[in-house]
Amino acid sequence: MTKIASNLQIDSARLWDSIHETAKFGATAKGGVRRLTLGPEDKQVRDWFRRACEAAGLEVHVDALGSMFGLRRGRDMSKPPVGLGSHLDTQPTGGKFDGVLGTLAALEVVRTLNDAGIETETPICIVNWTNEEGSRFAPAMMASAAYVGDFTTADILSRKDTDGVTVAEALDTIGYGGESPVGTQKFSGFVELHIEQGPILEAEGKTIGVVDSGQGVLWYDGRITGFESHAGSTPMPLRRDALATLAEIVLAVESIASKQAPSAVGTIGEAAIANPSRNVIPGEIVFTVDCRSADAAIMDAIDKELRAAAAAISARRKVEVALDLVWRKAPTRFDPKLVDAVEHAATALGYSHRRITSGAGHDACNLNTVMPAAMVFVPCKDGVSHNELEDATQADCTAGANVLMHTVLALAGVAS
Ligand SMILES: [Zn+2]
Repeated sequence: MTKIASNLQIDSARLWDSIHETAKFGATAKGGVRRLTLGPEDKQVRDWFRRACEAAGLEVHVDALGSMFGLRRGRDMSKPPVGLGSHLDTQPTGGKFDGVLGTLAALEVVRTLNDAGIETETPICIVNWTNEEGSRFAPAMMASAAYVGDFTTADILSRKDTDGVTVAEALDTIGYGGESPVGTQKFSGFVELHIEQGPILEAEGKTIGVVDSGQGVLWYDGRITGFESHAGSTPMPLRRDALATLAEIVLAVESIASKQAPSAVGTIGEAAIANPSRNVIPGEIVFTVDCRSADAAIMDAIDKELRAAAAAISARRKVEVALDLVWRKAPTRFDPKLVDAVEHAATALGYSHRRITSGAGHDACNLNTVMPAAMVFVPCKDGVSHNELEDATQADCTAGANVLMHTVLALAGVAS
């Protein structure tokens, strides 16, 4: 690498300005952002991003699911580009940094290389993935999932939001149903910068998280069938109370996950009593379970223990407990070479760093199933995200973008 390239730093003020400029699209009163995927604010930020890419000399194309690709040519165009980017959609009450940082830092990398007159050996390509958040259309990360072949394009295009609008209609409305078939833009590898969305880096005073793994996910739909009866006249020993059963299951999930802490987490985030009434013993409850770990063996152990606990509680209480595994996502092991490249860049730039597991899902986790991928994390205030209070410092965002740039330069090579 040339001397210029090894000392190169991104323009911190320009990155910070871009983050705040795009935060206007869907700005909320509390300082957050509401930019649901494929809605009018998403169109505004997409138009902004397209103009910025074109101004930076990138060839922009859009795929059939609306993901945006900005290609910067390299010396050797026979090689696939190194990909970098994230997403520009947000949660309904989201923040300025989740996804936005990784996408705009990718743009900033291009702008910096342009300013320095650096040509890379292979091309690089910056990406804005459609619907990472999953709050308007399910599933989350749908575009990158389709890209890697987990879903067909037609399947995703037919998904509806709560108003019955399909992805295809929403893409049409904002003019982002692109020409390129999904999956045609190939990459030699992909690097995503993101805020941590957890408290570890901040608590340890580290600037960079070198993400080497991502958690696997177990999602269950549960149903408890007891027996509705009179709250006044049914003696305690004769009850088949669905809610009391759920209470035991909640504590079982907590205890099973806690036994594996810090390597697992478990949550019951939804529960609903059918026909609730203050003087009726609940007879039927549906609920969800979400368990996660970066270790497949721990996921297997959790599945076994959870089923055993549910069976024991069910037998003792004489109620039925059905537990359906509706989604199992294997843990992510990011590509060791790319992870090393991220770590090397952080070390060379003099930033404190540590290896870290991603607690949340990301497009890079999907992409890692078909290409080498890695992630760079920077701290966010109090570990808070998916919240209007989400915050990160300019210094940390700058550090993350510099690590992103030097990782990409190491992968793409500098033409001499
Ligand atoms: Zn995100």
